[in-house]
Amino acid sequence: MAEAAPLGLLGGTFDPVHYGHLRLAEEAREALKLPELRWIPAGQPPHRTAPRTAAGHRLEMVRRAVAGNPAFTVDDAETRAPGPSFTVTTLERLRAALPDRPLVLLMGADAFLGLATWHRWRELLDLAHLGVATRPGFPLSSEEWPAELARACAGRLSEAADVLRASPAGRVVGFSMTPLDISASLLRARLAGGLSVRYLLPDPVREYIETHHLYDTPDGR
Ligand code: ATP
Repeated sequence: MAEAAPLGLLGGTFDPVHYGHLRLAEEAREALKLPELRWIPAGQPPHRTAPRTAAGHRLEMVRRAVAGNPAFTVDDAETRAPGPSFTVTTLERLRAALPDRPLVLLMGADAFLGLATWHRWRELLDLAHLGVATRPGFPLSSEEWPAELARACAGRLSEAADVLRASPAGRVVGFSMTPLDISASLLRARLAGGLSVRYLLPDPVREYIETHHLYDTPDGR
């Protein structure tokens, strides 16, 4: 029986970090009863196009975004690692350091629906639980999931946060969060078009973006 409180993990490109990420983390903390949540900015994600912005900048923006929340910490290992980051490798590292601690890998519904494309994805559930947040535009009812994902999750689903304490890994718990139709792509497009992003992300992140001219041009240029 696992006894330690679950540790929440939120990976992402965070290119840039925004209030959708922050509310996902904060509402996961409450809904899934996670006293601690680690943010893990990706270095070079293998399953999607390269991030616009250097890992060091994305890490610094996450640090600024989470400053002041005592439940949040930042894990910089992926941004320091050479080569692509794989979530499964990160979970193996954390599992080796915390053999019995329940780990809860957090993600939005869009990421969850694409899970079967991730490197060694079936092993993720041997290493951690999944905590899946609702996201506008993405279905979270299992009839609409890809068949192999639905099969892999069969018998693992629960709506009760307490199952996350009972074992170190292997359960899938969905939770609803305040719907925020904010994405990093939307923010990059607004910034490149000279439009305001105020109130879509924290001011210290916006100031950092302005100082370093991070998204002055559209994606792909
Ligand atoms: P992009 O627009 O570049 O694809 P993104 O805004 O989806 O980026 P990521 O860094 O890819 O940001 O997301 C990290 C995690 O946060 C993912 O699991 C994603 O599902 C989740 N997430 C991001 N924005 C939201 C949101 N508005 N609501 C719920 N979950 C979100």
